[in-house]
Amino acid sequence: MLVTGAAGFLGSHLCDALLAEDCIVIGVDNLCTGNLENLAHLHNEPRFQFIEHDICNPLELGSADSDTVDTVFNFASPASPKDYHRLGVETLMVGSVGTRNMLELARRYNAKFLQASTSECYGDPEVHPQMESYWGNVNPIGERSVYDEAKRFAEALTVAYRRYYSTDTRLVRIFNTYGPRLGRSDGRVISNLMVQALRGEDLTIYGDGSQTRSFCYVSDLIDGILRLAASDESMPVNIGNPVEWTIQDCAQEVLAVTGSKSNIVTTTLPSDDPTRRKPDITRARTLLGWEPKVTLHEGLQLSLEYFRQIAKRAE
Ligand code: UDP
Repeated sequence: MLVTGAAGFLGSHLCDALLAEDCIVIGVDNLCTGNLENLAHLHNEPRFQFIEHDICNPLELGSADSDTVDTVFNFASPASPKDYHRLGVETLMVGSVGTRNMLELARRYNAKFLQASTSECYGDPEVHPQMESYWGNVNPIGERSVYDEAKRFAEALTVAYRRYYSTDTRLVRIFNTYGPRLGRSDGRVISNLMVQALRGEDLTIYGDGSQTRSFCYVSDLIDGILRLAASDESMPVNIGNPVEWTIQDCAQEVLAVTGSKSNIVTTTLPSDDPTRRKPDITRARTLLGWEPKVTLHEGLQLSLEYFRQIAKRAE
């Protein structure tokens, strides 16, 4: 199994899950946003190999690495708004050139190719909840376009490799996910609010907090991805938790789980910030027999110790 973006939040959990299924895993990451600490526990794992590499350059696997690659999981990309704003051109390049290099590698090995796509393909959606047949409402030149259009191009390229070269492909559209290893400094709402609450700092809500997101705990998400990889489904599948939260209510939940007395303050809403987001998971339910099990309350509790550690460390 080849996992790109292996040192990232989802990539590292995916490596763990594949190793737990007795796979041999090669993890690739250029560490532009990934963190080797996420893989530190695999240091002595003989079935895991890490290659520091930017997939915008073709990847040659030595014969010692393995004779075959069964599946390429293409998870390499800056993924949080803060990171892809900082690395805008890099984000566009990894979604296009990087994805092409990994599709070529999959073709060479006759491997399955699973592309990590995103709910951002739907942009600021006019259809609610979002089903896979919705084409989206994306601003091609807005601040988020570097990410949205990179991922949309990656989907188009993945489908083209299937159509023209018969590559065996999968597309997962990932909705907001959280859990241990979410980067402290990547500016995402759950990591920001949890760390602020644990430090007794004000919780920052952008805008009035009426915008919505649907938060999936990482173990549920990885379960959905493995089921999709094992299925024959080539069309996009949403994987996310369909329970929709306003950011205001999410902040209240963070206060409840942490027992914090922090205040909630509102600041400017970034431009292009989608007003609502909620997956329709009918396809995942019917095709994969998948649905999320972990509530936001439970997931925040499961993540509490991790956020405690990083809240302490950054002080
Ligand atoms: N957000 C917030 N406070 C924060 C960080 C984010 O209110 O400290 C909001 C953000 O404006 C967005 C939502 O929370 O509406 C989710 O943001 P995130 O960056 O986690 O991911 P997105 O879904 O926007 O990609």
